[in-house]
Amino acid sequence: MRITRLEIEQLPKVELHCHLDGSIAMPTIRRLAQQAGIELPVSDDDLRQKITAPQDADNLLAYLAPFDFVLPMLQTEAALELAAYDILEQAQKDNIRYMEIRFAPTLHTAGGLTLPQIVAAVTRGLVAGERDFQVKANALLCGMRHESVDSILTVVELFADGGLTHLAGFDLAGVEVDGFPEHFAPVLEKVRSEQIPLTLHAGECGCAQNVLGAIKAGASRIGHGVALKDIPESWPDLAANKITIEMAPTSNFQTKAVDTLANYPFKKLFDAGVRVTINTDNRTVSDTTLNDEYEKIADWYDLSETDFRQITRYAFEASFMSQEQRELLAKEF
Ligand SMILES: [Zn+2]
Repeated sequence: MRITRLEIEQLPKVELHCHLDGSIAMPTIRRLAQQAGIELPVSDDDLRQKITAPQDADNLLAYLAPFDFVLPMLQTEAALELAAYDILEQAQKDNIRYMEIRFAPTLHTAGGLTLPQIVAAVTRGLVAGERDFQVKANALLCGMRHESVDSILTVVELFADGGLTHLAGFDLAGVEVDGFPEHFAPVLEKVRSEQIPLTLHAGECGCAQNVLGAIKAGASRIGHGVALKDIPESWPDLAANKITIEMAPTSNFQTKAVDTLANYPFKKLFDAGVRVTINTDNRTVSDTTLNDEYEKIADWYDLSETDFRQITRYAFEASFMSQEQRELLAKEF
């Protein structure tokens, strides 16, 4: 029997794939703009146009435009702290018990902050959110793929900074070109040698080989992975190796990772035993919530509450939380 909206809302959830800069609620964006002295459209409808991607974006690049609009507001410690806190407040409404929020520290240096200051500010926001809401959270640090290997290596080095907490894993995000796992091999080798948990955006364009390259490079999780639709012969291995796919239904259609529902591989992967999970990617840019994303999947595929509990368990098991956190939350999943 298909899960109802109420059952979705009541289900305790885990979210693995949510970007800080794409997920700040509109009232908070207004506050941040005021603090940064940036003028915004007065009407909410006009502002929404700026911070939300079109349902029918031309491609991944068009989807990325709203990020450029918000980034100038995220260049102080107070702004980063508030942004992280704001997302945990939203997460509570989705009944999320644990989430990983990712961001690229190098995108927040325009105001003179250092990378450790940026990470510490986001962490303070997470700690405050954990105190005020019933949500546990960790951060994932992203390297941006339009940046150089050397620049991204400075992000990886942050994991060795003993003063920083809540750092759970690493990711490469942004525009995806064929063969990126090979291009960033020095980064990924360093991540592997430091035993930093790794998820990689891969297969968000037509490039199925990138997914296999990402796994070969050590990723236990794949962001989006929509291009897996083209290589079903790889699915039994993915299932056997417990590779987890972080899918984001609304975003995946907006970025043109897929064109029709028939081509969207979520259900086929699930049926093949591949560990698929449901995520928002960007709450604001995609104008969605995790409850909405679950409902979309329920509507498309008639999944039951048992199915969703299974999907949530996949997310829990694939999370990069500490053993201590895992034991505390295990009962719920
Ligand atoms: Zn993403």
